[in-house]
Amino acid sequence: MEEGPERIRELAAWGARFDREGGRFHFTREGAHSRNRVLHALGDATGWEMVRALLDRAQRTARVSVRSFACSVDLVLAGGAVVGCRFLSESGAETTVIARATLLATGGAGMVFAETTNPPVATGDGMAMARRAGASLLDMEFVQFHPTALAVPGAPRFLVSEAVRGEGAYLRNGAGDRFTEELAPRDQVARAIARVNRAGRGPVTLDLRHLDPDHIRSRFPRIAATCARYGVDLTSDPVPVTPAAHYVMGGVATDLSGRSTLPGLYAAGEAAGTGVHGANRLASNSLLEGLVFGARASEAMAADPAPAAAGASLAAASGKRVPEEGREVDPAGLVATVRRRAWDSLGLERDGAGLRGLLDDLAALGTQVAAHPRRRAAAEARNLVVVAEAMAAGALFREESRGGHFRTDFPETDDARFLGHTLLTTDGPRLIPVDAVAASAA
Ligand SMILES: Cc1cc2nc3c(=O)[nH]c(=O)nc-3n(C[C@H](O)[C@H](O)[C@H](O)COP(=O)(O)OP(=O)(O)OC[C@H]3O[C@@H](n4cnc5c(N)ncnc54)[C@H](O)[C@@H]3O)c2cc1C
Repeated sequence: MEEGPERIRELAAWGARFDREGGRFHFTREGAHSRNRVLHALGDATGWEMVRALLDRAQRTARVSVRSFACSVDLVLAGGAVVGCRFLSESGAETTVIARATLLATGGAGMVFAETTNPPVATGDGMAMARRAGASLLDMEFVQFHPTALAVPGAPRFLVSEAVRGEGAYLRNGAGDRFTEELAPRDQVARAIARVNRAGRGPVTLDLRHLDPDHIRSRFPRIAATCARYGVDLTSDPVPVTPAAHYVMGGVATDLSGRSTLPGLYAAGEAAGTGVHGANRLASNSLLEGLVFGARASEAMAADPAPAAAGASLAAASGKRVPEEGREVDPAGLVATVRRRAWDSLGLERDGAGLRGLLDDLAALGTQVAAHPRRRAAAEARNLVVVAEAMAAGALFREESRGGHFRTDFPETDDARFLGHTLLTTDGPRLIPVDAVAASAA
């Protein structure tokens, strides 16, 4: 993949302020990296700065129309193709939009789990919408658990970035001893922490006290400020940390131009499963993935012919009434149950019995969600159940351990049976060869 530098230069030309040293881009490193290759912006606000620059560009582009706080609920199908989507406005009004091409860029699904670094919007909406429409998902069992989320009771699981360990921070158990290679791949570090906690040898802390405090404060201003808000001084206190769900390597199965298995439907960013992250994403690769594959998907959307059904379907779709349902129950309790059950049975360590029990529970919970949600919370609850089921189905199918997926009943990697991607179709999961992801789509 050679397009990364080109996309970075384009974003910088649009105003993204990546940090520089002596006029040249400054690079750092994170877990499992063999050299410094990660750009950053405003110290530790890289994603924020990229979004700011992209939004600014979008707002200055006349043909882009933005509907803030709208929530897509379902895809519209006609003749086996996706021809648009239904969405709820902020006030709850429902609208159907018909399009010659529809892109899902709804991000990840960390909210499936009780412990997550993700924001509340990361409910896997795009993955669930695609699955309900009949599109295939890829590698849903591969979830990355970040080893070091801030573990202060009552505080959100704020991410204490791997770059902190990249700068030399140590992980220590409750006795003050180091117990793991701090820059090993995330799944290994996360499981090492979980083992320490399980053995009652916690709490695990991150120790920066041997590092230059001025450098730490200027390199990680946002992390230092957030820790301070919860009474922890990043430079002089041991920082309590816990593993938390962080990134979904899988998603809507696409080829390398964002095409899904349904005509008219595309996906990019964390919502997509291109296969590029394998079983365990390397730190920093997802922002770059979004830039490169987002651009590729937009080129494909412009170039591909519109699905034949698109024009004819507008009248049918807009004339269709959404069935009125009775009372829409508050899904908060259901969501809490899904997230707790997923953390326990689909988290850092899984086994067949736990996954089967989870699938049974999700099937029962699925009967309690609204079929045609009229509120965002109900739509998200429905999506969490669908995504958790997809993850559990993939995890049960893959009777081995690899990357972010660890089965205590199958702790070894089994290349003979499972070297490849899990394609989850409407018929269930099946293995496809590593180089067949592109061919699986479109
Ligand atoms: C704390 C944290 C730190 C991270 N740090 C890094 C890092 O340093 N480097 C790196 O490469 N990656 C990092 N990641 C991962 C990276 O941020 C994400 O993978 C990336 O932001 C995904 O981009 P995206 O555009 O696909 O989705 P997002 O950035 O999640 O954007 C999705 C958007 O879709 C909206 N949306 C969701 N559902 C709907 C719906 N139904 N209808 C309408 N809109 C919807 C959301 O509100 C959101 O605005 C980090 C992630 C977290 C949580």
